[in-house]
Amino acid sequence: MPPLLCINADFEMAWSGRRVPDDPARDRLFEGTPETVARLLEIFDTYEIPVTWASVGALLLTKPFDFDRFAEFNGADPFFTGDWYAPPPFDSPRAKYFYAPRAVEKILNAKAKHEIACHTFTHVYLGAGSVSEKRFRMELEACGEAAKAWNLKLETFVYPSQYAEHADLLPECGYKVCRRDALEWFRFGKPYIPSFTVGRGNRLRKIAGGLGKFIDESLCLTPRAYEVEREPSGLTRYTNSTFFPGFRGVSKFVTPQQRVRRLCRGVNRAVRDDALLAFFFHPWNLNRRRDELLGAMKRICAYAAKLREQGKLSIVTARELAAPTDRR
Ligand SMILES: [Zn+2]
Repeated sequence: MPPLLCINADFEMAWSGRRVPDDPARDRLFEGTPETVARLLEIFDTYEIPVTWASVGALLLTKPFDFDRFAEFNGADPFFTGDWYAPPPFDSPRAKYFYAPRAVEKILNAKAKHEIACHTFTHVYLGAGSVSEKRFRMELEACGEAAKAWNLKLETFVYPSQYAEHADLLPECGYKVCRRDALEWFRFGKPYIPSFTVGRGNRLRKIAGGLGKFIDESLCLTPRAYEVEREPSGLTRYTNSTFFPGFRGVSKFVTPQQRVRRLCRGVNRAVRDDALLAFFFHPWNLNRRRDELLGAMKRICAYAAKLREQGKLSIVTARELAAPTDRR
């Protein structure tokens, strides 16, 4: 396997981490995301870096969607206080946090050949025990419909968090590639805990995990690089090594320079091991102290592009892991 880099933008806006139907405090986090996306696209165009945008299907919607078809699953999520499938309507003031057709258009019109991947339709957590096979299938079908309006075929599926369930449905629904996020050492062998599952029992683990994450990021520990795996079903599975964080949580105390150093070390590891370094970030997470974070992202891209120019690295989208053609 040649050394590879795959950058993933998990594009989900207000769909992730919802706990109550109407949360103005959370809405504020997503203000400015269109500008962040536009500036990211400029960076990726400058270095001709194609990125895998793991998009929540609802963000792709170009017109109102009949969420009532999911009505039977309202109330199934123990962490949500309202009806999960009753998001703000398309023409409401909060719609801009839940639907992003203009950003999608920009991504598709960029010079770099980005991939739109699937990150479920509404950012359901497959590990929460609330997503039946039927519900997952309906979510995937809705994603396919939303993508069709853009003449897109979704071929890569990205699991929210590290819970990879109902994987057998993916090839059946036309997916060729799927991504799962690595269990980093500071998770102590257990998946990332979305805030809704933090009870008394695992609060201590969450604190220890935060401390470990801080150590990892501030000491710029080298992320692991992984082999791409082929499953008997034909599905290609790749592992996401790490995260490019915003200024939130313990990452508030980590400098942009430390972010650059850690990710560049990961790229070097991929080159050394003939393996894949995949990392992800949330575009909205870069809204705060945007200039500094985009500056860091730009330096990582410049470094990777230089290695590619020297013939040492290929920069690919997830889809290309299944069909390695037209690598740059
Ligand atoms: Zn996500």
